[in-house]
Amino acid sequence: MKVYSTWCTKEKEEARSLKAVPFCSRPTTKNMALTIKQETIEAIRQHGARDYPNECCGILLGQAEGDMKKVLEAVPLRNLRTDPAEAQKLLPLESPGKESERNRFLIDPREQMRVEKEARARGVDVVGYYHSHPDHPARPSNYDRDHAWPWYSYVILSVAKGQPTDLTSWVLAENREQFDSETVEIL
Ligand SMILES: [Zn+2]
Repeated sequence: MKVYSTWCTKEKEEARSLKAVPFCSRPTTKNMALTIKQETIEAIRQHGARDYPNECCGILLGQAEGDMKKVLEAVPLRNLRTDPAEAQKLLPLESPGKESERNRFLIDPREQMRVEKEARARGVDVVGYYHSHPDHPARPSNYDRDHAWPWYSYVILSVAKGQPTDLTSWVLAENREQFDSETVEIL
């Protein structure tokens, strides 16, 4: 089994443990694709509209086989940035004046662990994450890149003036330098 311990700086290791994301032992390839049901996309879109003008966030559970990841469920979670005092303690923002729950999200590590545990008990995996970009294109920011891990799907929903618009998915390259767009196949 390949272990990607060389990916991370110490800082990223700390962020990883805070977000409780397990090391991924599966390789990222160029041709990864995500399949997702229309009703799950609709649930993500509604979550984005509901939490506007803040970023919404959640975990994608499903199954992976080869280059394909299949989302079976989107689990909506609270954006911990809506509790700035708590969020700053866990993972401080560099520029709290410019960064807030409107352009940053943070998943509570306790919630992450709870969802992972329940998923394992049901025989499904965490295959990715989703979040919204209020009044911003559905493209990953540098912040998103710095807090992402290879292999997982990062679904981004743009919400313009409260209305959900584009939805895209991205996978961080193994060298962690850029996100590659991922095909989204709607079932
Ligand atoms: Zn983002």
